[in-house]
Amino acid sequence: MTAKTNAARPRGRQFFFNPGPTNIPDRILGAMNRATMDFFDPTFLEIQTRATEGVKRVLKTKQTVLFYSANGHGAWEAALVNCFAPGDTILMLESGHFSGNWSEMAQSLGYKVETLHADWRRGVALADVEKRLAADKAHDIKGILVVHNETATGVATPIGDVRKAMDRAKHPALLLADTISSLGSFDFRMDDWGVDVVVGGSQKGLMMVTGMSFTGISDKALARSEKTATPKSYWGWKAMQAMKPQRFPGTTPVHLFFGLDEAVRVIDEEGLENVFVRHRRLASAARAAIAHWGGGAKNDLKISSKGIDGKIGALELLCADPARVSDSVSAILVPDGHDANAFRKLALDRYNLSLGGGLGPLMGRVFRIGHLGDLNEPMLLGALATVEMALADAGIPHKSGGVTAAIASLRGA
Ligand code: PLP
Repeated sequence: MTAKTNAARPRGRQFFFNPGPTNIPDRILGAMNRATMDFFDPTFLEIQTRATEGVKRVLKTKQTVLFYSANGHGAWEAALVNCFAPGDTILMLESGHFSGNWSEMAQSLGYKVETLHADWRRGVALADVEKRLAADKAHDIKGILVVHNETATGVATPIGDVRKAMDRAKHPALLLADTISSLGSFDFRMDDWGVDVVVGGSQKGLMMVTGMSFTGISDKALARSEKTATPKSYWGWKAMQAMKPQRFPGTTPVHLFFGLDEAVRVIDEEGLENVFVRHRRLASAARAAIAHWGGGAKNDLKISSKGIDGKIGALELLCADPARVSDSVSAILVPDGHDANAFRKLALDRYNLSLGGGLGPLMGRVFRIGHLGDLNEPMLLGALATVEMALADAGIPHKSGGVTAAIASLRGA
């Protein structure tokens, strides 16, 4: 069945523009194509140490980083069970589908989750964060959870400003940030921004295979984890961080470290700040194309977990706050009466272009272009040209010439 489907696909390499996993450079794949090594071998320990130090540089931290042989959900769970005790109250700053999923996980683990609601097109208002924390005189809120880059909407929340709001309210809660789709794509500063726990994953900005996640852990969070009463075994930080480099419960995934070591080398060679500049340049070009396709339309609507309130009259970038646009993913609202998933299927079946879909209440209403990781101008322009062609094929109203707008953006015109 699968073979038949693939055989029917157009020839040529699949253009993969999902916002994660992302394209893996051949040299990272190649770095994992080597014989197994004893995980106590000094050569391997050197590789593990070097990869760990590299990830610390990307996180901009000098504190502890612990890895898990798991996707991002594993690191989400590790962060929660080490920081909180059953019955603790956690404040989730709503951003979209992923903040909702992390909340559900926290609830299923026995924590009380209070959601600070936000319009998904803009993300949470910082004044609301400060007000809620200032009102919590008894300091019942033990942690603030925030998704740095909401992959479902393409809206980023300024984590440094969340920390400032916490400080103004003089609130001692731990600050936990999910950087799964921002790390290695745009700026994140764990230590400068006073983030206590950072959740990261291998398969997006780090350009690695899926299956490795990690937490950056502040000294304050590490101290808290010693006292939290949530039962835990595999995820417990205490045993893991007793040795340097970290010991895994069971077998260390040596091949994941071979790949990660190469991934941080790739980033170091370009320079982390240059990586961010490249992502900004490519994201701006994608946004120029999207704005052109929609003819500069501004739809008057709000989005929440309940759905879209208002009419989508024209194609438009979902993020309505220019200060919060994501440089790793763009979500695009599709006009009412058109099915974004049918459009994605057409792009995949006819042109072998893989785009991201709408998640939760956005299903069928948006498509997403991932512009993160191992990406350059020709790749992005190829994808944008194909999106434009598929929009025409699908009969979705748009103004042609988006690619010309993207080129003008790239050339600084
Ligand atoms: N958080 C964010 C922001 C994500 O984008 C994702 C996945 O795309 C996750 C968490 C979950 O990560 P994983 O799918 O690796 O478990």
